[in-house]
Amino acid sequence: MSDRMHWSRWGDPAHAATLPPNAIGMLELAFGPASPRPAMDVATVQLPPIELSDELLDALRGVVGVEHVDTGDDARVLHTGGKSTPDLLALRGGDAGAAPDAVLRPADHGEVLALVTLCAERRIAVVPYGGGTSVVGGLAAAHEGFSGVVAIDLGRLDGLVGVDDVSSTAVLQAGVSGPRAEELLGEHGLTLGHFPQSFEFATIGGFAATRSSGQSSSGYGRFDAMVVGLKVATPQGTWELGAAPASAAGPDLRQMVLGSEGTLGIVTEVTLAVRAAPATALYETWRFPSFADGATAMRTLTQDGINPTVLRLSDETETSLNLAKPESIGADSPGGALMVCGYEGAAERVARMRSEVGATLESLGGTPLGVEDGQQWAQGRFSAPYLRDALLDEGVLVETLETATFWGNLDHLYAEVKAALEGALSAQGTNPIVLCHISHVYRTGASLYFTVACRETDDPRGQWYAAKAAASEAIVDAGGTITHHHAVGRDHKQWYAEEIGPIGATVLRAVKQAVDPAGVLNPGVLIP
Ligand SMILES: Cc1cc2nc3c(=O)[nH]c(=O)nc-3n(C[C@H](O)[C@H](O)[C@H](O)COP(=O)(O)OP(=O)(O)OC[C@H]3O[C@@H](n4cnc5c(N)ncnc54)[C@H](O)[C@@H]3O)c2cc1C
Repeated sequence: MSDRMHWSRWGDPAHAATLPPNAIGMLELAFGPASPRPAMDVATVQLPPIELSDELLDALRGVVGVEHVDTGDDARVLHTGGKSTPDLLALRGGDAGAAPDAVLRPADHGEVLALVTLCAERRIAVVPYGGGTSVVGGLAAAHEGFSGVVAIDLGRLDGLVGVDDVSSTAVLQAGVSGPRAEELLGEHGLTLGHFPQSFEFATIGGFAATRSSGQSSSGYGRFDAMVVGLKVATPQGTWELGAAPASAAGPDLRQMVLGSEGTLGIVTEVTLAVRAAPATALYETWRFPSFADGATAMRTLTQDGINPTVLRLSDETETSLNLAKPESIGADSPGGALMVCGYEGAAERVARMRSEVGATLESLGGTPLGVEDGQQWAQGRFSAPYLRDALLDEGVLVETLETATFWGNLDHLYAEVKAALEGALSAQGTNPIVLCHISHVYRTGASLYFTVACRETDDPRGQWYAAKAAASEAIVDAGGTITHHHAVGRDHKQWYAEEIGPIGATVLRAVKQAVDPAGVLNPGVLIP
């Protein structure tokens, strides 16, 4: 994890957001009287006592060196949980109960393997730690029954192992962050094209372990689709996967590791399909009369095989907030549903793609709004999470959740989840705003990304968990997946079990037993 990350907020403190001048009045109008909730001071945060014995700490020091076993308060607080709103609320309230006993920083695959082996032998629970951006409780390992809990921070594995120009692949170490990956590949004229909103801090290993999806997935694909090979440190030894670009040699075991959220091993290297860095990038916006009209246009594009690099569509409520242009939140909105289309590549290809997309969108009722808002969206695409902290300071609860389904079920799923969120939060006496956009598209379906804002009650974590449970029930009942890209962690486990059914759960438990019989790898996460 980067030391630039704030302990109880999103991101780099130097980029902290302030609310626009008219925001406080608007928040009062939307959610009722202001009730600011500043975070507690880091000095007052309560850390649990360290359970690891001196003998075990010495054994760990023997593997990575004294200076890479950190039991200091700062490191423990910084590695407490992830960055979901409940995680932030806990820390803001001074609760670091989920902190590891120690933060270990191995230098290479060999040290990771030695740590995993030692931890399995001595029953030390292990939390593999990438960028620390999990929003599903993926970094909160169970403590019970273990001699202690360590976070294995992969930040020192941050290099490019090699590039195969002929095959268009690159091997990156697991701790490489999104920007560092682009920097390392950029030196070879290449890009990965993986730009999740957590890009600034999330890592290659984390992307693989959670089957992440970036904002340019329409053009570049999901992260799991970019992975051609993996190197994993497990308690049984090193597991290397990916002998060829495609294979009929039994089930694809790479898929067993992708999405395994640190429960089967620690990914130390990932071989990825890469592309030539785009010479041109252009983003524009379109307006559709309704969310349903825009969704039909998106489906037509993807089913016709026309894939702009970025393709997303806000529903009417999200459009009315002008989120593509945060400085004009609250200004008059043109109404309807706003679509962002982005094109990246060589100049001629961008022009060709744009005109092909434009012809289809226009024929389906879209109105082109030009490039200004699209370019602003691209420039500000990583800044929205900073706004969440500014809103939490004002006592406004903000959180997101996501799901996916087939096109034929999208309207139904949208209506059910929105109603569940509005119903659950209204029942708590708040006046919620529920926004949604289609964030990723496929030939057969799409994902829905919901953002919720409402006034915090006296128990904002309980408030969110109740709303989240209602939304999760609605997702399962309406035939969606419990997560399209945030992963399972602890928060989705109950509904994940329903999604994969008893046979799926038995298969997963059997694999876990075979690879990690001591059960030390991220206990409590993912495996039902
Ligand atoms: C503001 C914000 C925006 C986000 N936007 C997106 C988005 O657009 N798209 C998206 O897909 N996700 C998004 N996320 C979720 C999160 O960023 C992703 O899940 C990301 O892939 C996690 O990467 P990380 O390096 O931070 O992993 P961590 O959070 O450190 O870990 C995530 C899980 O993977 C495990 N893990 C981490 N590294 C390894 C490893 N090397 N080997 C084995 N297991 C490992 C951890 O134990 C944990 O269970 C967002 C999160 C936030 C806070």
